[in-house]
Amino acid sequence: MKIKEILKSSQPHISFEIFPPKTDAGFDSVVRAADQIAGLHPSYISVTYGAGGGTSKNTVKIASHLKHDMGVTSLAHLTCVSSTRDMVHKVVEELKEQGIENVLALRGDIPQDTDFPLPNHYRYASELITEIKGLGDFCIGAACYPEGHVETEHKADDIIHLKHKVDCGVDFLTTQMFFDNAILYNFLYRIREKGITVPVVPGIMPVTSAKQIKRIGFLSGTMLPQRFLAVVDRFGDDQQAMQQAGIAYATDQIIDLFANGVNHVHVYSMNKPEVAEAIMNNLSHIVKMEEE
Ligand code: FAD
Repeated sequence: MKIKEILKSSQPHISFEIFPPKTDAGFDSVVRAADQIAGLHPSYISVTYGAGGGTSKNTVKIASHLKHDMGVTSLAHLTCVSSTRDMVHKVVEELKEQGIENVLALRGDIPQDTDFPLPNHYRYASELITEIKGLGDFCIGAACYPEGHVETEHKADDIIHLKHKVDCGVDFLTTQMFFDNAILYNFLYRIREKGITVPVVPGIMPVTSAKQIKRIGFLSGTMLPQRFLAVVDRFGDDQQAMQQAGIAYATDQIIDLFANGVNHVHVYSMNKPEVAEAIMNNLSHIVKMEEE
């Protein structure tokens, strides 16, 4: 099913994300985790794609398994920054062969040790989106950044670029994680004002360890509110307590989003079925599960 159809529902829905293994040795355990998450009947599961190879080769395989063997709508991520156009076209052909209708089209982070962009390579996700649009009947998602993308100096420019990207053929947007819902509401107001009308799926990350937080701040420049930092200060040294508190914090964010008119939330469940399950249990009377 195309995700743009799922997003027409006015019922609260949850989707999850998984990432493929870094090495082939990890393949079976990732598939086991994906299967357990699929067993929770989310509206879809997204499968990430490594920008620099490595974790990218199993994306289509896992997305296909989720769709055909587990009966869950899958969303295959595809990055282009480290790929030639021929490499990207090959992956798009594989997606078509596997009947995967949903693609999250991304640029990926710029590799530090090469020139950018390389000849016959892509500079922005918008170029990839234009190409995918011409290659098949896909439902195309793209990324957006409520706090602004790290490379952009002015948030206003980021929204101008986002508008151009959406106009290239985007059906829905998924946000970078955020820990203060006011940031999302403010972002939605600003993009709607600029004429971006496609559905926006907020991405929520349940933080389950103190280590994760240092990485998040470093990678995405995400603002960590005082209320969130107080939770980490109090529970960060105790893994089980931090996991429980992180899940509760994420649940609280999700309920506030639903209460304020959002109908779909994407959870960065990081290959942790127990986290996905706890979130679903917390929302058992709120979220609509997909039919078995
Ligand atoms: P773009 O939309 O191309 O934007 C990149 C930067 O270029 C922005 O600063 C933008 O403002 C600027 N820009 C865009 N167009 C123009 C223009 N015409 N002129 C000037 N500036 C412009 N990474 C992975 O490696 N694998 C994944 O699976 C993955 N999944 C993700 C999922 C989500 C929901 C999100 C939010 C991010 C994900 N990422 C993933 C990270 C993403 O690849 C990086 O954030 C990357 O740096 C930007 O990708 P993008 O598609 O948003 O790029």
